[in-house]
Order: sequence, then C-alpha cells, then structure tokens
Amino acid sequence: MNCPACGQPSKAQWNEDCPLCGFPMGQVRRQIIPIYIITGSIFLSTLIYGALVYVMSTNAMIEPQPVGEVVFYALGGAVVPVVIAMAFVKRIIAKAALAEVPAVYGLVAYFLTGDTAKFAIFLGISWGLFIWLSTQIVDYVAQIQRHAVEKWQRKSSQ
Ligand SMILES: [Zn+2]
Repeated sequence: MNCPACGQPSKAQWNEDCPLCGFPMGQVRRQIIPIYIITGSIFLSTLIYGALVYVMSTNAMIEPQPVGEVVFYALGGAVVPVVIAMAFVKRIIAKAALAEVPAVYGLVAYFLTGDTAKFAIFLGISWGLFIWLSTQIVDYVAQIQRHAVEKWQRKSSQ
C-alpha cells in the first residue's frame, strides 16, 4: 500500500507510521480493516442462510403456511425502503446491515411458504445490494484516507 500522505510505496508494517513522512498509516489501517472484516462477515451470514435453506429443503422440513404468499409480496414491497435507506446512509457497515435485510426476508418467505425459489429471489436482491455496496467501498476508504491526511497535515503545520 502506498502512503496516502506522501504517495511513496511504504514498507511499514500494518500498525506502523510511514517511515518516509511519518504519516500514521497504522492508525488509518486500524480504521479501515474492520470495515472490510465486518462487511465481509455480514455478507457471509447470507451464505449461512443459503446453507440453512438448502439443508431444510432437502429434508422437507417446512410446512407451507396459508399466509405465506401474502407475506411474500408484502416483504417484496418492504425491499423498497431498504434500498432507499441504503442510498442515504453514509457508513459502509450500516449499508452492509441493510444489504443483508432482503436475505432475512427471504428466510422468512421460505419459512412461510417452503418455496426455495422465493428465498432465492430475496437472496439475489441481497447480493445485488452487496455488489452495489462493493462499488462504494473503494471511494469510502479513499475518503477516510483523505480526511486522515488533511487532519495530519493540519496538525503538523501548527
Ligand atoms: Zn508517507
């Protein structure tokens, strides 16, 4: 990783300052790495839902409920506010939590209908939102680095 302050390729360990200009790269990394870990963990949970539905469906464990179809369409409508909220919240981790919501809807839809296709639709929406999110992470991380550089430059010019 190049030092965001001086732009030089840095051999600093993940928790060290840049040896060339002294920019606190370690501190910035400690801010950025959890974003990737938490976002990745939230995404992984959707895979676990998939595995759960797979296991339950191969064992025919679900008894379809009469309200299932109605709830399925209601949940479909409830995806809209999730997408809108994702467009407005700034924090990547909050966006990731929202991207997971349709997968949870899919789980509910599956439990009520026993229909794996209904789960798959919601899982597809969730993954679509995660793809959208992944396109925003790069900019978000660049922004964190830019802010850190500005703050550090202000501090060192005093
Ligand atoms: Zn540097």
